[in-house]
Amino acid sequence: MLVESIKEVRNIIKQWRSEGLSVGFVPTMGALHDGHQSLMERAVLENDRVVTSVFVNPTQFGPNEDFEAYPRDINKDYEVCKKVGVHVVFTPQAETLYFPDKSTTVHISGLTDVLCGSKRPGHFDGVCLVVSKFFNIIQPDKAYFGQKDAQQVAVIKRMVQDLNFDIEVVPCPIVREPDGLAKSSRNLYLSHEERKAALVLSRSLEMAKGILDKGERNASILKAAMLSCIIQEPMAKIDYVEVVDSEDLHSINGEITRSVLIPIAVYIGKTRLIDNIIYEIS
Ligand code: AMP
Repeated sequence: MLVESIKEVRNIIKQWRSEGLSVGFVPTMGALHDGHQSLMERAVLENDRVVTSVFVNPTQFGPNEDFEAYPRDINKDYEVCKKVGVHVVFTPQAETLYFPDKSTTVHISGLTDVLCGSKRPGHFDGVCLVVSKFFNIIQPDKAYFGQKDAQQVAVIKRMVQDLNFDIEVVPCPIVREPDGLAKSSRNLYLSHEERKAALVLSRSLEMAKGILDKGERNASILKAAMLSCIIQEPMAKIDYVEVVDSEDLHSINGEITRSVLIPIAVYIGKTRLIDNIIYEIS
């Protein structure tokens, strides 16, 4: 069922709750691909009922970002959701979700000062505001987020803890194209040549994994190797390449002693792509 109204979605969920049913939630911005689908499939497996939101959230885009250009095709998205077994696709209008005199900010400090947070000022405030609204409207038992947006997972987990949302955050693995490129709605922006060039992201992460597998533990050496791999691709412009603690996201420059997140953001032409791996050290 496609539902635009906040009141209607609340009523549907109230009814489910009265029947004792559990509720899973998958927030998305639409242009659904296999990555989103994997989250929805897991939610369908683990809950009696599943709500997916399809909402291109204006408050998480910067003034010079791609809010207007972001791909939108609600009919196609609805078909994907139905096929997977999602019960309600929630597509609110921005005007009904955001009051003109809105004054509330949801700001998670520290975790958002680094990586995408420092490169996209205000982005995580927008994410946290919209996700907390959805959490309040839907009040799911479990909410599913992709590890593709690793910083987002860390930020949402912290928000849930700090604001006492009674919701389990379920991180889900990155889904990739057969050649390694992480699935993303923004891959639609890539020309044929750019699509080939975009493989430099997953290639540099694979290389990092190989270096760690061989026993290298110096984060600066690892970063330098990744940077020199990426700059060999003429269409790529590096936004960041980092090695950080996988829990608190603090930057690691010396010895790697425990599990690390290796997140990267790279422009391919005008398209900004992100990817990452987590490397477990036992
Ligand atoms: P988005 O529509 O880009 O806001 O993404 C909605 C959710 O899908 C987020 O939790 C993303 O992390 C997740 N997601 C996007 N791409 C992938 C992917 N390739 N693999 C797994 N999850 C993904």
